[in-house]
Amino acid sequence: MIADGQPGHIDQIKQTNAGAVYRLIDQLGPVSRIELSKRAQLAPASITKIVRELLEAHLVKETEYQEIGSRGRPAIGLVLDTEAWHFLSVRISRGTITLALRDLSSKMVVEELLPLVAEHDESLLQRIVDEIDHFFIRHQSKLERLTAIAITLPGMIDTASGIVHRMPFYDVQEMALGPALEALTGLPVYLQHDICAWTMAEALYGASRGSMNVIQVVIDHNVGAGVITNGRVLHAGSRSVVEIGHTQVDPYGKRCYCGNHGCLETVASIENMLEIAQQRLRGSMTSRLHDAPLCVESLCDAALAGDRLAKDIILGVGHSVGRIVAIMVNLFNPEKILVGSPLNRAAEILHPVIASCIRQQSLPAYSEHVKVESTQFFNQGTMPGAALVKDALYNGSLLVKLLQG
Ligand SMILES: [Zn+2]
Repeated sequence: MIADGQPGHIDQIKQTNAGAVYRLIDQLGPVSRIELSKRAQLAPASITKIVRELLEAHLVKETEYQEIGSRGRPAIGLVLDTEAWHFLSVRISRGTITLALRDLSSKMVVEELLPLVAEHDESLLQRIVDEIDHFFIRHQSKLERLTAIAITLPGMIDTASGIVHRMPFYDVQEMALGPALEALTGLPVYLQHDICAWTMAEALYGASRGSMNVIQVVIDHNVGAGVITNGRVLHAGSRSVVEIGHTQVDPYGKRCYCGNHGCLETVASIENMLEIAQQRLRGSMTSRLHDAPLCVESLCDAALAGDRLAKDIILGVGHSVGRIVAIMVNLFNPEKILVGSPLNRAAEILHPVIASCIRQQSLPAYSEHVKVESTQFFNQGTMPGAALVKDALYNGSLLVKLLQG
C-alpha cells in the first residue's frame, strides 16, 4: 500500500473496528447486529454506528433472512453490497500482462491477457500505464465505481513506497509504478510480490484457508515461498519476501539476475529446468521427450509415463527445493506445505520427493505431521491481486477511504 502518513490513534481504532465488522459481515452474512456485536466484541452502539456508515456508503445492505431454528418472522441481517464497486487487478509475468476488472466480492467482470515483451523502445512503466489506460477505455461501459488498483509482479519490490527495484525478464531499475499510477488515477495502489500475494489469496480463499502455519513454495518462472505464521502472512506490507529463490544451492552455478551465482532459481525455475532437460536430452537417444516439443506439460507427461530422464529432471527440482523447504520447516514448524507450480501436473512424482527431503532433513518432531499439497489457484490470473484488495478492506485501510468518499 502507498503510505499517506500514519493515522492517529483514534483513527486507527476506528479503521481496525470498521475492517473487523466488514470482515465478519463478509464471512457470516446475512448476520444480525446483535451477532456482530458478540463476534466483534464491540458495544451495540459502536456496531450501530459502524453499520450505519457502511449502509450509507452502500458497502453493506440489509436483507431479510430466516434465523436457524426460528419459525418466527424473518430477521433483518446484513450482507455486503459489492456489485457497484470495481477494482482493477493486474498481474505482470514473463512476457505478459493480465488485466481484470473485479467487483468487491472478487468476482470477475472482465479479464484480458496481453503480450508485454521485454525489448521495447518505450519504458516498461509507460507501457503498463498505456495498457491500463486502454483497458479502461475498452471496458468503459462495464465500469462501476473504481476503488483501487492492485498489481502483482515478480522481482524486488518496496510495497510501502510502490517502487519496483528490479525484475526478472524486464530491464527495470527503480520503477516508481505505485506513485505513477496513484498520480494518474487518484486511486490507492496496492503493489505486492506475486508469490506473497498468491500466499494471501490461498489463505483468504484457497488451500490454506483456516490454517495457522503454512509454507507455500512456488516453482514457476521464479522460485519463491510465502509463509503463514500464526495465521498471518509473513512480510505482507513490507519490502521483504521470503527469498528462497535466491538462496545458493550451487556455488559454481549459473549467474542469476540478482547478481549472485547458483541460486535455487537457476536450477529450479521452469525455464532453467527446461534448459537442463534440453542439455541432457542430447545425450539420450531413447527418451520419450524426443517425441514432442519440450515444455512443462510434455516433461510431466513423459515422467508420468515412466520416462527415466524426465522423471530425473523433476526429482532433481524436488530435491533442490526440498532441501530449502526442510530448513524452513525447522524455522516455522508448519502444518502443511503448499506447492504452487505447473509441475503439479506430475504431483505424484514431485510431492513425495519434497516430503521425503523434509522427513530426512528436518526435526522429526516437526516433520512427521507435515503434509505436502497443491495450491488451489494457479499463479496465472488476477486472484492474488484481488487478495490484496480484500486484505485492505479487512484491515480497514481501504474501507476508510471508501467511507470518506
Ligand atoms: Zn539470485
